[in-house]
Parts: sequence; C-alpha cells; structure tokens
Amino acid sequence: MSSPTDALQRLRRVHEDAVLSALRSSGALSRAQLTERTGLSRTTLFTIISDLIERGAAVETEPAPGEPRGRGRPASLVALNPAAGLLLGLDLGRGRIRLAIANAAHQVVTTAARDLPEDAAPLALAEAAIGLVRQVAEERGVRLGALEAVGLGLVGVVDGDPGPAGHQPLARRIADEFGVRVAVDNNARLAALAEATWGAARSARDVVYVRWSVGVGGGFVAGGRLLRGAHGASGELGHVSLDPSGPPCHCGGRGCLEGRIGGQALLDACAARGVPLDGLDALVAAAQDRATVACEVVSSAARDLGRVLADTVTQLDPALVVVGGELAGLGSLVLDPIREAIGHLALPRSPREIRVTQADLGVNASAMGAIALLLHEEPSIPAHLRPA
Ligand SMILES: [Zn+2]
Repeated sequence: MSSPTDALQRLRRVHEDAVLSALRSSGALSRAQLTERTGLSRTTLFTIISDLIERGAAVETEPAPGEPRGRGRPASLVALNPAAGLLLGLDLGRGRIRLAIANAAHQVVTTAARDLPEDAAPLALAEAAIGLVRQVAEERGVRLGALEAVGLGLVGVVDGDPGPAGHQPLARRIADEFGVRVAVDNNARLAALAEATWGAARSARDVVYVRWSVGVGGGFVAGGRLLRGAHGASGELGHVSLDPSGPPCHCGGRGCLEGRIGGQALLDACAARGVPLDGLDALVAAAQDRATVACEVVSSAARDLGRVLADTVTQLDPALVVVGGELAGLGSLVLDPIREAIGHLALPRSPREIRVTQADLGVNASAMGAIALLLHEEPSIPAHLRPA
C-alpha cells in the first residue's frame, strides 16, 4: 500500500524530472521559459527550482551580454550544474558490495568494493552499501548532492517494480537515504547490460551473456533491450537442469548446471582427483599454469556449459555469446569447448556467425550495469509534461 506521502513524493519526482529534462534538452532557461515548457504552475516550478539549486543539481546563471532583455533587471537563467547528474551503481553480491559512480557525461569516475558477511540480511546490506558510498564520497570528493539516481544489482529473482519481493525494503532504505529514485535488477543481468552498453557486446543487439564464477548466472539482450522476463527471472542459465534425477539444487530443482560447474563443484572435482585447492582463484591460477587436473576439470565443465549455451543459442539466435566471471579469464581453455558445442549442436546446417568471446568489464560489470539500467530506463514523465 502506498501512503499519501508516497503519492506526493512521486508527483514531485515527476515534476522534477520534467524540469531536469527541459534543462537537459535546451540548456539554460529562464523561469518563464521553464513554466512554458513544463506546463507547471509558477509556484510549483519555483519550489522545485529552489530545491534543485539547494541540492546542487541546478545552478543560477546570468544571461550573456547582448541577450534580449525586458524592462528592469534581466531574468537570471537556470541550468544544470555541470558537476551534477551523478549516477550511482551498486552491486550487492554474496559477500561483497561493489560500487561505480558515473558523471553527467556517463563516464565512470570512481569504483570501490567492500567485503561483508555472506549471510548479511537485506537491511544490513543496505546499511553497508550506504556506509561505503558515504566513505567513498568523502575520501574522493564526490558531491552526493549531485546524485540523480541509484541503480541496484541484487542476487536472485528481481522484478524491477517495487512489488512485494524481498528487495523492496532494501531499495526503499537506499532511496530514502539519498533522496533519489532507485532502479533494481538482477546483478548477472546487469553485467550483461553493461557488456552490451560499454563492453565486449557493445556493437551487438542480440547477446547471450553467462557469468561463470562461484555461481552461474546470465542475461539476454534481445533487440538491444535487456530481457527481464515476466517475473524477473530471465537469464538463470545456472539453473537449467542437465539431469532431472540429479542432486537437489538450492533453487528447488535437480541436476542444475550450477551444481555441476559452479565454483564449489569444480573444487570438489579437483579434490576428488587428489588435488585439493583453496578457492576459485587457486583453481584459476592452477589452470593458468597448465596443471593437468585443473585443466581437465575446467574444460570438461566448459563442455557442459557449452551444451546449455548451444540450446540457448538455438532458441535465441544471438550474434554474440559473452562469457564473464573468473573462469572466463582462462580464455581458449573455456571458450573453445563452448564454440565447439555451439558449432555442433546449435542448428549446424544453418551456418551463421556466432562469436563466442570473453567479457571486457571485469569485476565492476554489475555495478556499471546498474548505471546502464538508469540510462536505458524510459523517462518517468507523463506525455503532457514532457517538453516539446
Ligand atoms: Zn538450480
């Protein structure tokens, strides 16, 4: 249930967006021009402008000499603050928070990370994230008053609407703290969006992305848009079942891909062959050093992943398959079995070029994707308030 206060805040946000959008498309404008373009009443407009100036999102400027002026004092103009328009991306993963901040020109200006307990409750996650943002802002001179919106990447099924799902209090806490809108999505999907916006898939409109790490996740971009699905569950490649009578998975299914090729499964497979390794990084290092067992375990797992990706390719017909996560760092050891599986299994009699490539953006991909989410969002301004 939304309270009257919520409704008022939403309306204010819509008015504010109308003003910001007019300034974005036209540069500096007088208050009279803004009244005309936004259709807002003088009183509403003046309140919003004072608030934007107070928050550092807009600045007051003098008209250039020679500008036509009416009688009396020339009307000052309102413009976007060039130091404003910051976008914050937060990736709240298992055991780690990452953040990225982009400026008004959409360049990432800073990134940071902090470890936290793997079983942290949603509100504890929100507090830790807020703490990290404030610390980074103070240490690196980032003006949080210039913050325009926050994108939030979360683990699991994430519906973008602030519905009844468990992430709502977390997103609300962050929105309240910074006084800006918050958009949420699954963090593997956001990594896919980031690769399609700035990374390995930036020239492609149809992309299959898989993140191969401790868990196995993914995201699909179709026709240039991130596929969220009807329930926010699109892209869960790790939970494609390879064996309906296989071991139970934490998703409730059986024989899932993640249970066979996720980080822990790979470490277990190495240990079973007499090579105990201390974590995923050690496994990747061993495979990089061409240690036999590590290489065999990884390439066998890559064949399993390739079979699932071949099915996905058959269904979605992408131009590009992007592999991210720590395991992708092993290059051809991982990519070749995937290429082979796709070549042999995904409509082999309909030859077409489907590139399989390593992700570009590294560990900050999801935090950057959270920023990309804000840039790709439809403006929340009703048509009658949109500037011409
Ligand atoms: Zn599963």
